[in-house]
Amino acid sequence: MKVTEEVWQVGGGSLTDPEDAAVYLIGFDEQAALIDAGTGKAHERLAANIEKWGVSASQIEYLFLTHCHYDHTGGAQRVREAFGCKIVAHELDAVYLERGDSNVTGARWYGEVLNPVTVDHKITSFEDSFVLGNRTIQSFHTPGHSPGSAVYLVESRGKRILFGQDVHGPLDPSLLSNREDYIKSLKFLLSLKADILCEGHFGIFKGPKDIQAYIRSFL
Ligand SMILES: [Zn+2]
Ligand SMILES: [Zn+2]
Repeated sequence: MKVTEEVWQVGGGSLTDPEDAAVYLIGFDEQAALIDAGTGKAHERLAANIEKWGVSASQIEYLFLTHCHYDHTGGAQRVREAFGCKIVAHELDAVYLERGDSNVTGARWYGEVLNPVTVDHKITSFEDSFVLGNRTIQSFHTPGHSPGSAVYLVESRGKRILFGQDVHGPLDPSLLSNREDYIKSLKFLLSLKADILCEGHFGIFKGPKDIQAYIRSFL
């Protein structure tokens, strides 16, 4: 599914496995990155979808994780093995991935176990940036749904694309959710004034008006 000429959705729901959160692919010049990995239950389909857009495995530099939940990270280890990329996550969620915590990562909700996975680059600040091709990917710490939730922002073809993933939550004590942080983070997301919002489970929202209305519906 094409988002722009250099951003595509390559995983999630009907594209890979019904339990997969959305997986997005960014291709800037000769380098590429993935946003989230899905559960890993349909790795071959994910790999095929990436290739379909003319991106080869060797071009993938990063796997940016938005948070630790199993539907976004179960496939992270396999993605790194197959594509040789670095896994990036905020340190406050990385700890549950490295520990293989099936409660906080929500793996138990799916009747699964999360195998421990090391995170190559832990984000430790509110804002960070990564170079891909000759472009920049910004990350922001947006806790609430999970302690170390993060969003990623890129500019593509004049559009500000926000990879917000689980904007909708949910909030649950077993996920260590925090309502106060969540509300603060939603307000911050509004301030980013995205033109396109790539959500984790509810598709791709286009146009500032629709995006603002969607985010506000959870406030
Ligand atoms: Zn999710
Ligand atoms: Zn989640």
